[in-house]
Amino acid sequence: MTELFPADDVSKLRSEASSASKAEARYARIMPFDGGGRAYTYAVPESAAGRFFIGSLVKIPLGSRKTLGVVWETESIPEEKYVRKIRPIEQLCYDIPVLSPDAVKLCEWIAAYYAAPLNSVLQTMLPAAVRQGIRPLVERTLFAIRELSDDALSALKKRAKKQAELYALLRDNGPLLRNALTFSPTVINALILSGIVRENAVPVSRVAYADIEPQENPHPIKTIKLNAEQDAALTSISRSLDARCYRTHLLHGVTGSGKTEVYIGAIRKVLAEGGSAIFLVPEVALTPQTVERLRSRLGDCGTQVVVWHSHLSAGERFDAWMDMARGNARVLVGARSAIFAPMKNLRLIVVDEEHEPSFKQSETPFYHGRDVAVYRAHLCGAVCVLGSATPSLESFYNAQIGKYTLNRILKRVDNHAFPPMRIIDMRREILHMQGQTTFSRPMLEAIAERLEGHEQCILFLNRRGYSRALICPDCGHVITCPHCSSALTFHRENQILRCHLCDHSESVPSRCPACASSNIRKKGFGTQRAEEILAQRFPQARIVRLDADTMSKKNEFRKILEQFRAGEIDILLGTQMIAKGLDFPRVTLAGILDADLSLHVPDFRAAERTFQLLVQVAGRAGRGQLDGEVLVQTFTPSAAPIQFAKRAEFDEFLEDELARRREFRYPPERHIIRHLFRGNDQKCVEETAEAWARFLEENAPDLCEIRGPAPCPTEKIQDNFRFHLWYFCSRVTAIIGKISRLRASFPWPENIIEILDVDPMDVN
Ligand code: ADP
Ligand code: ZN
Ligand code: ZN
Repeated sequence: MTELFPADDVSKLRSEASSASKAEARYARIMPFDGGGRAYTYAVPESAAGRFFIGSLVKIPLGSRKTLGVVWETESIPEEKYVRKIRPIEQLCYDIPVLSPDAVKLCEWIAAYYAAPLNSVLQTMLPAAVRQGIRPLVERTLFAIRELSDDALSALKKRAKKQAELYALLRDNGPLLRNALTFSPTVINALILSGIVRENAVPVSRVAYADIEPQENPHPIKTIKLNAEQDAALTSISRSLDARCYRTHLLHGVTGSGKTEVYIGAIRKVLAEGGSAIFLVPEVALTPQTVERLRSRLGDCGTQVVVWHSHLSAGERFDAWMDMARGNARVLVGARSAIFAPMKNLRLIVVDEEHEPSFKQSETPFYHGRDVAVYRAHLCGAVCVLGSATPSLESFYNAQIGKYTLNRILKRVDNHAFPPMRIIDMRREILHMQGQTTFSRPMLEAIAERLEGHEQCILFLNRRGYSRALICPDCGHVITCPHCSSALTFHRENQILRCHLCDHSESVPSRCPACASSNIRKKGFGTQRAEEILAQRFPQARIVRLDADTMSKKNEFRKILEQFRAGEIDILLGTQMIAKGLDFPRVTLAGILDADLSLHVPDFRAAERTFQLLVQVAGRAGRGQLDGEVLVQTFTPSAAPIQFAKRAEFDEFLEDELARRREFRYPPERHIIRHLFRGNDQKCVEETAEAWARFLEENAPDLCEIRGPAPCPTEKIQDNFRFHLWYFCSRVTAIIGKISRLRASFPWPENIIEILDVDPMDVN
């Protein structure tokens, strides 16, 4: 399904890149950051000739103002009719390009495919720190350059005692950091001026997570020898690397099968051959542990492993970006936006946990990091490795039709068995659970056993807060957010009701606002309630809750995981952030408190999500020498994804789900484009959506299958009413251009916001 790429020619790109470096480029087309998405021709000043590349950042006059832009193309002769009007480029901001030539092409593709303004894509790609420039951090050291005779020294001592002391210190102790000295600037400067001492300024990089020590790593180099399945996967990927042309591999390896070791093998090969690699992880929280592992395993490869994600400081961003652009850093680990890194000679892109929805950006441009990774690999003739224990239907389908090479690892490392999965039928259990509806008897027994044996538990519940909703049993009234169509959740620590969509909060009513009954009560449970019950049942246990409410502090996640690894925590309870990627050998119980949460939602991916969740959570148990067990609480034990997960039938699930998608002609069979309309006037939103749908049918009949308009499953968010239209098509670029043109000519009412989301992950 991900469409065959338009006939974009890699060799053309290569020749453009090399011609750009030739000195003959006298003109350049510049794409300004704020110029409406088109490039303008400028003259390259004589003095800058030969230092001009595609992807260089420049300052240009535009109209009556000055602005920044990126060199999009270089040319020797501009079109005749423009020649007299051409103005010169004012300044070349850096001596190296800040975007690689393939990133420039990538920018155009993202703009076209995701129907996003080119400017917004460019701004997303190039970090603000690089656009605006950051003063480099310099390290100043002082050292003595002249040997003073004893006489000269005692003369100095008499004249300026402090200067003599500093001189002696530097003479005896070699270069010292200026910042570390306690001498006043006057003293230091006087010595420098008299030519006795010299100051040396060396630019240094601000390295994120520099404090992560490779040696404290639990994955020492020599103990790892790939097993047969890992070896076969690596050999297959290596063959593609040797072919030096684009290929995507789907590495389907069950949890704990050693996929990361395969990635590391491929990265080592690329580094040894002078190339570079990007490693995408789905979540900022997963970067430290990946960086730690890569730094320790690639320590001998002669390059830095740098980190990229949204929590970096401007200085860290700037330095990391420039280190990559210069080719000093050749391995990057990061979340979604790391895919735009200015890597030189990029030969490998790894997308770990490729099925994760968090790779999709939820604002303009609505790009999918995984799909952009595949396309970027295509543009630079690199190899892309998508890895997962639970591949997305999209990637599985692409492997089935031969577009991707499928590599599998079906055994866990050391032949560890899969932990058995026990399904707890809550329809029966609920009768025996006195007072609480959170933990069934078998779940409580299993936890007690683990505590006794000094083993650890991970409990998973994808709902934060205390209760799901406040409900009146007498009239059925549910307390909802006044701005959104969503129930308010009770939060215990500050005793308020909160909306998880818009953060509205209000106090808890003592009576039902509809019928004044005093019976109003909390229904359903969230992580806070689960934590409370655990604490009551197991007062001796060390319990930590990890969810968006407890995670407001920077580095908190890392700290908690370290404590858990060190065995200072018995039970880790949390939302989806603890479901993936974590590897703790002493965890022998993984519990899912409510498997129905992701199952009964209006999303065509509900079954896929539920299956992935169960398998991923199960993968957290039994990773070390101890055997693990998985317990799943559900009211629908016979649901297909639950049964397939229980039997560890991966292919069977994928085939079954694919057949169901085919029947309804959903992705991956076809692409979906979601057209969302929102505004504060419900009637206007609905009428506009309908008028647009008619307009589209009239002006572009048979363009694609159109469904809707219909109210979104979440009809209202923050006082905005929401409707959507769905377009089904087999080739996105073919129709997105047409829709975009029609969109520009449609008379949109001022109070309506309309958004196109191509290949949406969020369908609510
Ligand atoms: P995955 O990425 O598939 O979840 P990992 O690569 O994290 O799996 O491997 C799980 C654990 O097994 C890690 O601790 C890793 O060091 C170890 N491991 C992986 N491959 C091997 C191997 N061939 N021999 C021994 N240990 C291995
Ligand atoms: Zn009531
Ligand atoms: Zn709300």
